[in-house]
Amino acid sequence: MKIHCPLCAYRPHAGDRWICSPGCDTVWNTFDTRARCPGCSKQWRVTACPACDVTSPHNDWYHDEVPDEADCEHEENRELVGV
Ligand SMILES: [Zn+2]
Ligand SMILES: [Zn+2]
Repeated sequence: MKIHCPLCAYRPHAGDRWICSPGCDTVWNTFDTRARCPGCSKQWRVTACPACDVTSPHNDWYHDEVPDEADCEHEENRELVGV
């Protein structure tokens, strides 16, 4: 499982911090808790990127590694078009 911004591919570091706002103003690393505020237990659905400043759904930051599968689909499509 890789974690990076869905838009700019920025990978959050251990030292990055987010603030619960609007909320209880707790500052923490949101990827330590899967976007759950340790101060007020609010479950955040979105996470702002420290690099590009765009707010994306928190789940979009998690990326499974399945490079082979995408290649196979591409091959199949090409074959169908050729016939
Ligand atoms: Zn909070
Ligand atoms: Zn970004």
